Amino acid sequence: MQKIPTKIYLNETEMPKYWYNVRADMKEKHAPMLNPGTLQPVKKEEMYPLFCKELVEQEFNETDRLIEIPEEVREFYKMYRPSPLVRAYWLEKALGTPAEIYYKHEGNNTSGSHKLNSAIAQAYYAKKQGITHLTTETGAGQWGTALSMASAFFGLKLDVYMVKISSEQKPYRKAVMETYGANVIPSPSDTTEVGKAILAKNPKTGGSLGCAISEAVEVAVKSDNTRYVLGSVLDYVLLHQSVIGQEAKTALDKYGVKPDIIIGCAGGGSNLGGLIAPFMGEKLRGEKDYRIIAVEPASCPSLTRGKYAYDFGDTGHMTPLMKMYTLGSNFMPSANHAGGLRYHGMSAILSKLYDDKMMEAVAVEQTAVFEAAELFARVEGILPAPESSHAIRVAINEALKCKETGEKKVILFGLTGTGYFDLAAYTQYNNKTMTDCIPTDADLQKGFDGLPKIN
Ligand SMILES: *Cc1c(COP(=O)(O)O)cnc(C)c1O
Repeated sequence: MQKIPTKIYLNETEMPKYWYNVRADMKEKHAPMLNPGTLQPVKKEEMYPLFCKELVEQEFNETDRLIEIPEEVREFYKMYRPSPLVRAYWLEKALGTPAEIYYKHEGNNTSGSHKLNSAIAQAYYAKKQGITHLTTETGAGQWGTALSMASAFFGLKLDVYMVKISSEQKPYRKAVMETYGANVIPSPSDTTEVGKAILAKNPKTGGSLGCAISEAVEVAVKSDNTRYVLGSVLDYVLLHQSVIGQEAKTALDKYGVKPDIIIGCAGGGSNLGGLIAPFMGEKLRGEKDYRIIAVEPASCPSLTRGKYAYDFGDTGHMTPLMKMYTLGSNFMPSANHAGGLRYHGMSAILSKLYDDKMMEAVAVEQTAVFEAAELFARVEGILPAPESSHAIRVAINEALKCKETGEKKVILFGLTGTGYFDLAAYTQYNNKTMTDCIPTDADLQKGFDGLPKIN
């Protein structure tokens, strides 16, 4: 058999021209978003003040399997895509496993993550609609950076509400965003009503994604020419991220390789949703079977310990209600948690697929995650983002199981990004000051107690 190259590159002509909409292949769709006031399904028109029209169309599209990627977006993609699919020969060797390990490397752009795939699409639709100003939130900073790049490309003004603790831990992220022209505001801030209210209650808070979302949403709805953009969770973000899975599948198909296990880290679910999309499509249509594993931090375990319920997307309760696996919108992961993936909920699409047992989920502790990151960095040469390292951890665990059983499974995982801005976390790990922080049932109950009482 032909030896698989270490990096399987695609030609530009092999890049996808369409995003793949996995919902079209789901026999049962996820429950609709609800207006929290009326508890009726949200209408498109209600979302127009907040989101660009074309993105709302995509959010509501449950029937078209393929949605054309605008040519301008495809041209931008060519600056950093197709991303390499790498055979992890050195990792396999280090583990002594008979398994084959592949990873799709999405960290090959300045934002350092897959988030640019959706940022550029969202900025494009905003520009096309005549919007001049965007607002968003960012946690670890990758999304804010990606959107800064996209906004600069299309000449849009951008305000980024950055979770305060992250802005303190990652001052250089701010520098990158500002280089691309963004205005970066640590959240909670006194620039919004919701930020002021949160600060009044809890002046020392390090902030949370949910809270930063509320601030960005408030600014967007108060102005006509401003829209809010979100980097994960929503169906249209997963749609844009389907380029990851489509490229990975095309590359593997070229060499006749079929993955047995597909693994991705899950924060809001966008990279995992994108990576698995075409494989899940085959699974949903009954053509092929794959084991699909979502990996989340033990400190923020929305799939493995959350409730499948209607909840708000943000702490300030300004968003519609979404049916998803959630820890409750007021859940905040422990301040000791350094590894990203801090969001309280999970994409409605992935929540539904998980509830339907089409995929599995595991939670891992951060010291074990960094141990995997360290090994990966040493043998594969790439310093991985802590988020991505959740997937590395479980890929290694599965490869080690193969070592015990002698099975030659094919494992594919998503390497969502690089960790150059996560050096505070790496320092903690290297100093052995990193701790694991697993919420107790009582901690989680506090979050569940805050769920809207409509389920
Ligand atoms: C944002 C981010 C994630 C998690 O977000 P998802 O929407 O769950 O994909 C994972 N890895 C990196 C590098 C990120 O920047």
